[in-house]
Amino acid sequence: MEAFLIAFVLFYFWHNLGTSIGYHRLLTHRSLIALKPVEYFFVIGGYLCLEGSPVWWVTMHRAHHRYADTDLDPHTPRKGVKFAYNGWLGKRDYPPHLSPERQANDVLKDPLYKYLEQDGHLRNASKLCAYTNIGFRVLLWVAFGWQVALASVLAALIAHQMPLIINTVCHLPKRFGYRNFETKDDSVNVGWLSIATVGESWHNNHHTFPGSARFGLKKYEFDMTWMTLKLLSVFGLVKRLHEPKIKFTDDFVLRPEHLLDPSAMMPQEETVSV
Ligand SMILES: [Zn+2]
Ligand SMILES: [Zn+2]
Repeated sequence: MEAFLIAFVLFYFWHNLGTSIGYHRLLTHRSLIALKPVEYFFVIGGYLCLEGSPVWWVTMHRAHHRYADTDLDPHTPRKGVKFAYNGWLGKRDYPPHLSPERQANDVLKDPLYKYLEQDGHLRNASKLCAYTNIGFRVLLWVAFGWQVALASVLAALIAHQMPLIINTVCHLPKRFGYRNFETKDDSVNVGWLSIATVGESWHNNHHTFPGSARFGLKKYEFDMTWMTLKLLSVFGLVKRLHEPKIKFTDDFVLRPEHLLDPSAMMPQEETVSV
């Protein structure tokens, strides 16, 4: 039982941080720089909780920011809660207004991510991800026994849910959370999700400052991913962590000049017109 619990906690944080650091804050938003082995360590953590092709993930997520809560947003709850949660998944092709060459060309340049993308055949990329995930658990079973393998499966399945829950709950205006900033989209900060999502649920902050590696901005907005990044930066494993240069007090009002801060910007690739 002890082996099961230890393995569960370790895998849970690896998979969650893999998605939040690897897929999200690093590859999608380029809000920090990491040594390549560190980048792969986190991205593989996300891949092994069924996050799919990193190129696909980045393409869809950059589009989500660009078109947040409009008709072109890949997963806005304005088209229904079920659609936002998982109704948008499982498609054979990219939507006509999106292409990885345009939205995620920087990620495609990496040979590992290019291979995992399977030339844009989304079904093949999903199958490759599923088989790799199964193979990894078989290896764990053989090497460490069924308890560790089972703990890994459960941790991955739960971690897999977190981005889907954020896409839904953190875009239901003022129902489950609050807004620090009056953005054009429906994003909210959801405090009760912040531990399980390792800080990813400070989503209104994130939509305001998408280029920031720090999502929790006020004192009580606990952001475990940010703390992990700060710790890694002490050892030189990650660097150039972007964060807003503004002090966030309770009576803070966002002004247009704040949005000229680099931490409020999306990566260059996102500005390519589609
Ligand atoms: Zn969002
Ligand atoms: Zn984002």
